[in-house]
Amino acid sequence: MQQFTLGRTNLTVSRTGFGALPIQRIPYEEAEALLNRALDGGISYFDSARAYTDSEEKIGRAISRRRGEFTLATKTHAKTAEGFRQDLETSLRLLNTDHIDVYQFHNPPFVPVPGGEDGLYDAAVKAREEGKIRFIGISQHSIDRAYEAVNSGLYDTLQYPFNHLATDREVALVKLCREKDVGFVCMKALSGGLVTNARIPFAYLSQFDGIVPIWGFQHMHELEEVLAYAENPPELDEATRQLIEADRRELVGAFCRSCGYCLPCPAGIPIHNANRMRQLLERSPWRNWVTPQWQADMEKIENCIHCGACAKRCPYGLKPYETLPTQLAFYREFVKTHQI
Ligand code: SF4
Ligand code: SF4
Repeated sequence: MQQFTLGRTNLTVSRTGFGALPIQRIPYEEAEALLNRALDGGISYFDSARAYTDSEEKIGRAISRRRGEFTLATKTHAKTAEGFRQDLETSLRLLNTDHIDVYQFHNPPFVPVPGGEDGLYDAAVKAREEGKIRFIGISQHSIDRAYEAVNSGLYDTLQYPFNHLATDREVALVKLCREKDVGFVCMKALSGGLVTNARIPFAYLSQFDGIVPIWGFQHMHELEEVLAYAENPPELDEATRQLIEADRRELVGAFCRSCGYCLPCPAGIPIHNANRMRQLLERSPWRNWVTPQWQADMEKIENCIHCGACAKRCPYGLKPYETLPTQLAFYREFVKTHQI
């Protein structure tokens, strides 16, 4: 497993990281097996968040006894210094550790700075002085705020969605992080499930030095596939470049990343999947999306009250209320033609 130094942190981490969001969806025993297999396979960067329900708790139970073998990163959504302290203490307790290596502000709607009224950055500095965290990071879905954070010089790491669908400005962001010695943690290498062939993003990302993609593993076969690529990295050959171009033609631009920041919806619409349903039906195992529950959930689109709350929150500038009816029309047709 290739290792590198994560920006100015001086932490030596594996080039392949473990994104611990999906383990909240599986029983503890399966998460325990995944986490230990990842460590045995050489993965040494684990990323969780206070918001990922029991993800931190599963990590704490499964691998805290091996704490010396890995770098631990987690995140807080706190809006105040007091909330920050509470979140940090909860994370430390659940992760069963006395320190977190990389503690990140979780996609805040602004970039916390020293002396800010929110007190968040100062709380992070205090936690670092107390030895509870080692480095201060930030995750972002907004490209403007990502640039702001990197240029501020205040952050040791940036976590941002990055894969073979990246725009030129996003590629430049990765280069800027390299110049400024900010560790780049790359999320959504598989575009939130829309890319089902991990070989393509793996080959693409291997061009960039100094980044750690955090792959979200829910099943052992997914982990084994990525571990195999880490051992024998797929080449960015002509065939792979053509696959990248095909994905770019289909997905680049204004597509829903399934980040869920538009939620909650007062009409109860699961926007983060409903707003990309056509792609899910066409690009992933479609039977998962036509259950009676999903059919009922998709029909909730009819109840949209056009409040606009989703558009205000979407970091990609999407207006779900404009696109959801098209998704519903396609969905109904798909269900009808497949005689479900
Ligand atoms: S509509 Fe926007 S905020 Fe909502 S899931 Fe899609 S990309 Fe994320
Ligand atoms: S505009 Fe429609 S989809 Fe968006 S939050 Fe409001 S009710 Fe939900």
